[in-house]
Amino acid sequence: MSEEACIFCDIVAGKVPCHKVYEDDRTLAFMDINPVAPGHVLVIPKTHYENLLGLTPGDLAAVHQTSQKIAGAIITGLKMPGVAVLQLNGKGANQVVMHYHVHLIPRNRPKDGIEILEWEPKPGNTRSIKSKLQKIQDAL
Ligand code: 5GP
Ligand code: ZN
Repeated sequence: MSEEACIFCDIVAGKVPCHKVYEDDRTLAFMDINPVAPGHVLVIPKTHYENLLGLTPGDLAAVHQTSQKIAGAIITGLKMPGVAVLQLNGKGANQVVMHYHVHLIPRNRPKDGIEILEWEPKPGNTRSIKSKLQKIQDAL
C-alpha cells in the first residue's frame, strides 16, 4: 500500500482524527481504535514505511524510543504490571495497516483474559532449528 491510500498517513496529516498520546518530529503515538486491551497504543513514524525492512535507522530508533517512553507511561499511569510490545510485518503475520507501527498492549495476565500473545512452549526439532539457522545466516 502506498502512502496515498494510507490511513496512518492520513492521521499524521490531520485528515483523519485520532486520540493523540504523544508526538515529536519523527513519531506519533495514538490510541488504537480497536483496543485488544484498555490502553492499547500505536506508535508510528510520521514518514510512511510499509514495514520493518524499509525503515531508516533514524526512524527505527525514534519509533522505539517513543515506544519505550509510552510503555513506561502505560505501566505507571495505568498501574499495569506488564506491557506487550508487538509489531507485525506482512500479511502472513496478519499486518493489516501497511504503515509501520508498534503495538503497546497493557497486560495483566492471567486476570485480563487475553489469550493472544501466549503460547505453550514445545521443544523444537534440533535438525530443523539448525537448518533454519543456516538459511537465515546465508541470507545475511
Ligand atoms: P496490524 O494488524 O496492522 O498490526 O494492526 C493495525 C491496527 O491499527 C489495528 O489494531 C487497528 O485497530 C488499528 N487501526 C486501524 N485503523 C485505525 C484508525 O483509523 N485509527 C486508529 N486509531 N487505529 C486504527
Ligand atoms: Zn502511511
